[in-house]
Amino acid sequence: MVKSQVRVRFAPSPTGDLHVGNIRTALFDWAYARHTGGTFLFRIEDTDTTRVTDEYIAAAIDTLRWLGLQWDEGPEVGGEYGPYLQSQRMDIYAHWAAKFIEQKDAYHCYCTPAELEAVREAQRASNQAPGYNGQCRDLTAEQVAAYKAQGRESVVRMRMPDGSTTFVDAIRGEVSFEHKFVPDFVLVRGDGSPLYTLAVAVDDILMKVTHVLRGEDLLSSTPRQIRVYQAMGVALDDYPTFAHLPFVMGQDNAKLSKRNGEVSIAWYREAGFLPEAICNYLALLGWSPGDDRENITMKELTELFTVERVNSSPARFDMKKLEAINGDKIRALSLEEFLKWALPFLLNSKVISGTDAEIALVKSALPIIQERITRLSEVPAMLKFLFVKDFAVESESLSKVTDAASKEVLKRTLADLTPLTEWTHSTVEAVLRASLIEELGLKPRIAFGSVRIAVTGSTVSPPLFESMELLGKAACLERISSALTL
Ligand code: GLU
Repeated sequence: MVKSQVRVRFAPSPTGDLHVGNIRTALFDWAYARHTGGTFLFRIEDTDTTRVTDEYIAAAIDTLRWLGLQWDEGPEVGGEYGPYLQSQRMDIYAHWAAKFIEQKDAYHCYCTPAELEAVREAQRASNQAPGYNGQCRDLTAEQVAAYKAQGRESVVRMRMPDGSTTFVDAIRGEVSFEHKFVPDFVLVRGDGSPLYTLAVAVDDILMKVTHVLRGEDLLSSTPRQIRVYQAMGVALDDYPTFAHLPFVMGQDNAKLSKRNGEVSIAWYREAGFLPEAICNYLALLGWSPGDDRENITMKELTELFTVERVNSSPARFDMKKLEAINGDKIRALSLEEFLKWALPFLLNSKVISGTDAEIALVKSALPIIQERITRLSEVPAMLKFLFVKDFAVESESLSKVTDAASKEVLKRTLADLTPLTEWTHSTVEAVLRASLIEELGLKPRIAFGSVRIAVTGSTVSPPLFESMELLGKAACLERISSALTL
């Protein structure tokens, strides 16, 4: 087939929140579709109803939207080859399973779990490769009747012929699997539900997928999928091209997992990472446009992305790098965009309730923290001092405003700022520099440190004089006076 019309799919089984590896796959799928002017399909593989829940499906859809990976066909969007939820395609899989049985590519297998375990045990004992031994391949009608009379359930198994399967992986080159290591496999469970291998292969063909870009954990399932294509009568030229993406590793070089890093994209979202930062970082994790840039926009990614430039060795996830990129992306936001991203964090943490006056104050305050944060989740703690009703100095900093030297500083600050009429960051700074640094001869860190704690409640705050301007004269003086009573 001439692959003029590229069709790429992202096909997660949402048994939990999508993780970093899933999203990198989705991003590469999307980028490849956009680069080639092709179609990006989003298919939910939810045939395992015991593990995939409606919440996880909704979350997967929401995550992809949040990341900006817009799909052309899929849930909520529809498309010519739908439905795109496998749970709504069960009759299609049943049709093909029945056809495979009729063609003798597949057969009913009546082996019980105990019998299968006994076979495995014997294989282990004689150092043979584990796998189904073909026991039910050629049952006679009498044998089938006897099994049925015993009330045995049957699964549908695909017959794997002798030989091997070879295909060219666009990232790894030629890959071969000896069938002695690919035993006859189950297509349909005893309860009639299809397994992944059947559903994924049938759908990739029916949805006219041309390229399967996915994680390398699925490499070994490829010969089984190819076997299904053969049974469907698909011509070799119509097989999709496979490209298996290398794993994302944690800092310890083991596959990234909950144990060695944060894997769930929901976690990154809550921790205040921008979708552009995640996409930027993941795009360059295992792929490069041929230079050593660390910043890339989605537009550049779609212009430059090719499968050939995906690295075949595993990539290491580096949180520090992601944070640095996130900081860059936050700094690059316009004030309006920054406000849009920051508001949910302020509202969720109940620092503000969302009144117009609060939002106006947030808007004036955001520029002074934009340079200083690497995660949006830092915004509430940074701006809380402007909104708290029952202001109090945080307990860890108390000792730093109650000592004699700090009291001196605060008394002087109160006295010198009280007459100030024009209250701006530069007038406040000029007064305090003159009195605390020049007259009292204090070091700025010591002098301003005490004022910072008295006014903001913490040793960590946005720039002091800008903070004081935003908070206003009355509140500043009131907080300084009350610090003097501590
Ligand atoms: N649904 C499979 C999974 O989430 C992936 C399917 C595929 O990409 O082939 O593991």
